[in-house]
Amino acid sequence: MDPKRPEALREKLVNRLAARGIASPRVLWAMRQVPRELFVPAACAYEAYEDKPLAIGFGQTISQPSMVALMTELAEPQPADRVLEIGTGSGYQAALLALLSKEVVTIERFPALAIRAAKRLSDLGIWNVLYLVGDGTLGWPHAAPYQRIIVTAAAPKIPKPLLEQLADGGILVIPVGCRTEQVLIRAEKKNDGLRYEHVIHCRFVPLVGQFGWPEE
Ligand code: SAM
Repeated sequence: MDPKRPEALREKLVNRLAARGIASPRVLWAMRQVPRELFVPAACAYEAYEDKPLAIGFGQTISQPSMVALMTELAEPQPADRVLEIGTGSGYQAALLALLSKEVVTIERFPALAIRAAKRLSDLGIWNVLYLVGDGTLGWPHAAPYQRIIVTAAAPKIPKPLLEQLADGGILVIPVGCRTEQVLIRAEKKNDGLRYEHVIHCRFVPLVGQFGWPEE
C-alpha cells in the first residue's frame, strides 16, 4: 500500500460499503475513523482496504470489512450501551464498537491476539475497552447485562450464557451453523422473549469453547 494513501483507500472502501447497502451513518462514520491497515500484519497492509478477510496468526482472521459493517449495523450500538464482543482477534471490530458505545468488553481465547489488540487500541487513544482472555462462550457475567452482544466466530448454536447475559431490549448478532458454513443471526430480546432474524449466509472461523465447538 502506498503509505501516503491509506485515507483515500479507506474513503473508497467506505463509499463502496455505502453503495452496497450499509445505510447507518454512524457505522460509516466509525469505519472512516479506524485505520484498518494497523490491524493486519504489516506484510499484507497493502490489502487492508480490499473487501476480504486476512490472516492475523494462530489460524485466525480479521473479518472482511463488509461483514464487520453489516454486523455492526445489525447490532445498532448506541452511545449509552455496554457491548460484549466474543472473539477480539485483531481488535478492529472492538475499535468500531468502542467508538459507537459507552464501553466494550471483548474476550479472546488466544492471549497473544488479545495483547496485540489492546496495544493497537491504546495507540489509537481508545480506552473504553476491557480485554479478557478466556472462553467467550461463557460470556462475562460480572458486567452483565449487555445491551449488545456480537460474536465474531461461528457457533453450532447460540451459547446459552450469552442469551442470559443479554439485556431486555438487547440485540445479539452471531453466525450459527456448521464449521464450514453458517447463517448470520440477529436476535432481539423483548420482555424476556427472543425474536430471531436470519440475515445472510456467511463463513467464520469456529467458536471454540464449552458452548461452542470442541478443539479439533
Ligand atoms: N473481531 C475480530 C476482528 O475484528 O479482528 C475477528 C475475529 S476472528 C474472525 C474470530 C476470533 O474468535 C478469533 O480471534 C478466535 O481466536 C476467537 N475465538 C474463537 N473461539 C473463541 C472463544 N470461545 N472465546 C473467545 N474467542 C474465541
